[in-house]
Amino acid sequence: MRQKKISRKKMRLNKFIAESGITSRRKAEELIIQSRITVNSRTVTNLAHKIDPQKDEIMLDGEILTIRKHLYYLMNKPAGVVTTTSDEKKRKTVLDLVRTGERIYPVGRLDYNTTGVLFLTNDGDFSQLLTHPGNKIPREYDVKLDKSLNRDDSEKLLKGIYIKGVKGRFIKISKSVKNDFNQVRVTAVEGRNHFVKNMFGALGYKVIALNRVSYAGIRADIGKGEYRKLTDKEIKEIKNKYGK
Ligand code: URA
Repeated sequence: MRQKKISRKKMRLNKFIAESGITSRRKAEELIIQSRITVNSRTVTNLAHKIDPQKDEIMLDGEILTIRKHLYYLMNKPAGVVTTTSDEKKRKTVLDLVRTGERIYPVGRLDYNTTGVLFLTNDGDFSQLLTHPGNKIPREYDVKLDKSLNRDDSEKLLKGIYIKGVKGRFIKISKSVKNDFNQVRVTAVEGRNHFVKNMFGALGYKVIALNRVSYAGIRADIGKGEYRKLTDKEIKEIKNKYGK
């Protein structure tokens, strides 16, 4: 397994945990507060605690953590695979499609039959950056509906409607096929589960097919079921544009 070159400097415990690829820095703080982290066999609950990655032994629930090189993939998800890391119904997962010995996980979710852009990584902070609602990262979807979207409903979707008590909206709606309002392209800046289906469902439309065309400006330039590494330039651009 590849391991990152480690500097000799001391570092914050939550940063070390995030760099081991299991979670984000914010979630690492929760693990520390929950007394699940030990440093040299002693439980540490102080969030400001610093460790020496060269000397100290850090464990989560008794398992040793080591810093991993960060990995970033773009997949063009095919239909018929789940986005979770394991499935109780034993269906194929997106991880079954990626050849890597490293532990990576999908950023957010796409439904079983939804296709298109999906990121996979072991960088918890990157995942958090892409999914945090406050960052308002654009996701473009091509949507095939059971009937033509009328102008009134289109305006409602742009103005905002309540989904489970929380207002949601598309920031853009356009025709994805000329003169066919059964097929529209929408842009959302949030990623609640089934968001697109629920938005249309609330106004009596059924989503027949859904494809995520882009996420954070990255488009699927590979075939369905294929994946590639994100380039350094793409990673940097996402972090610079949407990171704090
Ligand atoms: N919205 C949905 O309804 N489903 C998806 O898979 C993605 C966004």
